[in-house]
Amino acid sequence: MSTPTDNLLDWLRDAHAMEQQAEKMLTAQAERLEHYPDLKARIVQHIDETRGQRELLESCLQRLGSSPSTFKDLSAKVMAFGQAVAGMTVSDEVVKGAMSGYVFENMEIASYTVLIAAAKRAGDAQTQTACEQILKQEVAMADWLRDHLPQITVAFLERSAAPNLDAKR
Ligand code: MG
Ligand code: FE
Repeated sequence: MSTPTDNLLDWLRDAHAMEQQAEKMLTAQAERLEHYPDLKARIVQHIDETRGQRELLESCLQRLGSSPSTFKDLSAKVMAFGQAVAGMTVSDEVVKGAMSGYVFENMEIASYTVLIAAAKRAGDAQTQTACEQILKQEVAMADWLRDHLPQITVAFLERSAAPNLDAKR
């Protein structure tokens, strides 16, 4: 048997691990991008947001009595995503990276949608508010990526077709 708060805590820990992974993944992407300044700038902005999200989750976890040591090393759950992006060396890296980013943001949107419902059910208004705030940032990032996927693709195709330009990142 698990109370709504037990499940809420579990899912907050999962979200915390997800944000740690997001920070690693986004940082690796931003460091590698050279020829796509708009994408790079948006990723850098989201790295800042992601750090803020992690801190918000930490304050929710601490308020619910979870100590910092119990929310370390949980990132294996979402590691596959990070590896798919951080280790990317494919020739169309920028396009695959933007696609993976869009998928990751949608996983975050699903996670915070669940957390908001769980926080509501558990009667934890502060966690609900925190997750609603985070959800807005994830939706904005997902929307940005979807809106910009066509222009990222075209920029890649143009660089790729030029004789002396590096297109991949
Ligand atoms: Mg996030
Ligand atoms: Fe995000």
